[in-house]
Amino acid sequence: MDDGARHHSEIVCRDVVDLATDYLECAVRGLLRGDFESHLAGCEDCRAYLGQLLVVIRAASHIPHSWPAQDDRARSLELFRTWRSERAGSSEAT
Ligand SMILES: [Zn+2]
Repeated sequence: MDDGARHHSEIVCRDVVDLATDYLECAVRGLLRGDFESHLAGCEDCRAYLGQLLVVIRAASHIPHSWPAQDDRARSLELFRTWRSERAGSSEAT
């Protein structure tokens, strides 16, 4: 693994996946939230992912107040992997 010149507080796409549901629940706060949002600002992929995640979650749970759960978290990870592998095709091969 090569972390390059990554700052200690900078979050990466994988962190966005981990935090996505928390973020959408407004459970990500403070410095972490700032890092999350600045990653989003510079990462079109994660913005698109978050948008898709919202659509999926809303479709899956008709009641916006009760979407919680580990289940959704696991599902969102799966969604992300699928979504990335669909898009990755030409660009990256990690
Ligand atoms: Zn990203």
